[in-house]
Amino acid sequence: MKVRLALPMVSGNNCPGAPGWTGDAPKGNEMQTFRNACTLNPRLRSGLAALLLLAAPHGLAGDETARLDPRPHPVRVEIDNPYATVDWTTAQQIRSTTHIHLTDQAALHRAARLGYRHLPVSNYYPSTPYYPMDAIRAGQFRVRQDFGAVRTTDGQSHYVAGPLDWNALIMDKTNGWYDSLPEAQREQLPFTVGDFLFQDIPQDLVFSPNAEHHAFANTGAGVHINAPGSLYSSGTFDAHNRFRTSWGGGGYSYGVGLPWQTAFALMLKQLLFADGGGITINHPHWSGKDLPQALIEEMLDFDPRVLGIEVLNSGDWDLEMWDRLLQTGRRCLGFFVPDWQVQADAPRPGGFNILLVHELTERHCLQAYRRGAFFGSQFGGDELSFQGITLKDYQLTIETSAPSDFVLVTDQSRSTVTGTNRVVFTIPTNAQRHPAIKYVRVEARHGPERIFSQPIRFLVRTE
Ligand SMILES: [Zn+2]
Repeated sequence: MKVRLALPMVSGNNCPGAPGWTGDAPKGNEMQTFRNACTLNPRLRSGLAALLLLAAPHGLAGDETARLDPRPHPVRVEIDNPYATVDWTTAQQIRSTTHIHLTDQAALHRAARLGYRHLPVSNYYPSTPYYPMDAIRAGQFRVRQDFGAVRTTDGQSHYVAGPLDWNALIMDKTNGWYDSLPEAQREQLPFTVGDFLFQDIPQDLVFSPNAEHHAFANTGAGVHINAPGSLYSSGTFDAHNRFRTSWGGGGYSYGVGLPWQTAFALMLKQLLFADGGGITINHPHWSGKDLPQALIEEMLDFDPRVLGIEVLNSGDWDLEMWDRLLQTGRRCLGFFVPDWQVQADAPRPGGFNILLVHELTERHCLQAYRRGAFFGSQFGGDELSFQGITLKDYQLTIETSAPSDFVLVTDQSRSTVTGTNRVVFTIPTNAQRHPAIKYVRVEARHGPERIFSQPIRFLVRTE
């Protein structure tokens, strides 16, 4: 049987995320055109991860074709295996996270002690990358932000381009609102810039741009979105409106202030690397009614670079939501993050994405996120890791570093295997030998530690 590596059948590498694609991300209203041009299964075009198995006549030797698929209509089986290009014997396992707030030196040291090596720090307010980390100074965003913000005046919202000089805006003799501020706030003006926040940055840490964006114009306040690898910035320093930069004063949105679709397009447009990073949909459980499954699905469908949801966020789990989304057949990666736990010095912080990279560079790390070449770990401990997740001839072999209790989850079943460090799972197939499941994902537990593979997906299409 011929197996081909992820080469979706589009002419040229002109689709965002396609192997070898190096262009700029589509902007604004070009997006729709771009997506339509990428006609075949855009969700699978998100890197080298997709493995294409052609069961069509051209993909197999003639006699094999007849045996496998005797029907007149060719059937194409696509396998989206995020680990397809991972060489488990040589890959480094790098602790990373897509959602971590680090706002002072002590917290950065804690993150380093916890073993994080790649840090797309996702701070607010404002929602702007701390990138490079060594350039960030205390209070700098109160004095000035280079990026703009959405402003509402006379009931109309419009984007005001940066830079925004807050001292000048608030204290302006004609249009400022300094005189209306309480004394406690007036005393703090004009704002001044303090010292560098991070003065001792461990040399073996790799950073990436990221930020946590919120306050979209067309969602509830519980929707929070991260954009690891993107330089996009939104909002202001004044989240609680203490300086009346928003209501009762300046009218500037303290968050995104744009429809989420517009903001997503901007996040994607400002990706540092065209083939790395993307968007994560944060903590569905915490977001509650503001983030129903239907909205998550709409977001996942917006662009293949909307990568997935947080499955673990500071002790809060979303495994059920993850499976419900995967049962729809969508691509949805799972992210495992500490959010504020490291900054807050929580007693047992958890949430690691263990990246599988062949070189520890920023670009390789962001590419691993795009492809899904990582697994989740609750505590990021050395005592339990995946040592292999390989799919061959519909046999999925999973190996772990320690004897574990496994759970194999598909859209059809949930099976457990206990006390072993190697499991072989045969992908169920139908009479035509096509996969009879939409996805399989694997969890392993050893003591208190739990690790989670990304889903491997099977798409059967009649042409
Ligand atoms: Zn957060």
